[in-house]
Amino acid sequence: MKLNEILNALLDYACENKLCKNDNISRSLFCVKIIGLLTPKPSELISQFKQYYQKSPKKASDFFINLTKAVIISMSIKLKNIKWQTQSSYGKLEVTINLSKPEKDPKAIAQAKENENINYPQCLLCKENEYYSGNYHHPARQNLRIIPIKLANENWFFQYSPYIYYKEHCIILNQKHTPMKICKKTFERLFDFLKIFPHYFIGSNADLPIVGGSILSHDHFQGGSHIFAINNAKIEKRYKIKNFENIDFAIVKWPLSVIRISGKDDKKLIKLANFILKKWKNYSDKSVSILAKTQNTYHNTITPIARIKNSKFELDLVLRNNRTDKNHPFGIFHPHEHLHNIKKKI
Ligand SMILES: [Zn+2]
Repeated sequence: MKLNEILNALLDYACENKLCKNDNISRSLFCVKIIGLLTPKPSELISQFKQYYQKSPKKASDFFINLTKAVIISMSIKLKNIKWQTQSSYGKLEVTINLSKPEKDPKAIAQAKENENINYPQCLLCKENEYYSGNYHHPARQNLRIIPIKLANENWFFQYSPYIYYKEHCIILNQKHTPMKICKKTFERLFDFLKIFPHYFIGSNADLPIVGGSILSHDHFQGGSHIFAINNAKIEKRYKIKNFENIDFAIVKWPLSVIRISGKDDKKLIKLANFILKKWKNYSDKSVSILAKTQNTYHNTITPIARIKNSKFELDLVLRNNRTDKNHPFGIFHPHEHLHNIKKKI
């Protein structure tokens, strides 16, 4: 008998005996409750994870993802994602349309940041989701487990995403419900993560609406073991930077403006990344419509992605600008309106 057949039989029994209401949401909440009883307790899981970690970081992440797949991911994915590769002047590009999670409207994302709600848990990334029983507006997470880690001397948590975009898609979340902010500390956290999980990459969405992620109200990163097309992109130009002679500095041939810095000295890389971030935040070039600021609103930020390659740290800094105008209310430097319907049509 398959797991979903067993669960359905249990749910039917629960509904017949009035232990659970017979509607889709109530059945789904009750189902997660049952799976939660089969999932190891957080303390047991953390101690097992630590034992595996002593053998190797990969053994620990393998153990954790296999458990997550068994108790969360297999339940969340009802539809297979659509993926394809296409040749372009930038190399082979990979396109993914994720069908397991509805795409959010950029304006709704910006609005959500403004209208901070007071619900518990405050958002889908808060640590309080672990073991949460759920309701009609918030999914049940009795089967969610998170592993505590230290990044830049702060408390963070590591979990796998229920909505997988790519191989071993993990989320790293701040212990506090605090807004996303790309700053020097961001780069410190990225490198600390790579020291804990050298076989994973880690990246952050930008911290501004339109060019950022779907949750701006809770600081988080995403990581995993997938090799993205950008990793194999060609280098357009290399430079040497004064006072950073041990760091390789390159411009990547990519549809977005990407600076790649690499080297063994993470402290120098953090310093240089922060220098670039500060410069870019105030950079304007009217000839190409880049304005750092309109009235009191800043528009420039960075999407950083870090990985270890050939025993060196490698950090991609993608320069972003979220300005809009009459012709492009969803972003001048973002996929334009005529492409926004792709997902809605499916
Ligand atoms: Zn939160």
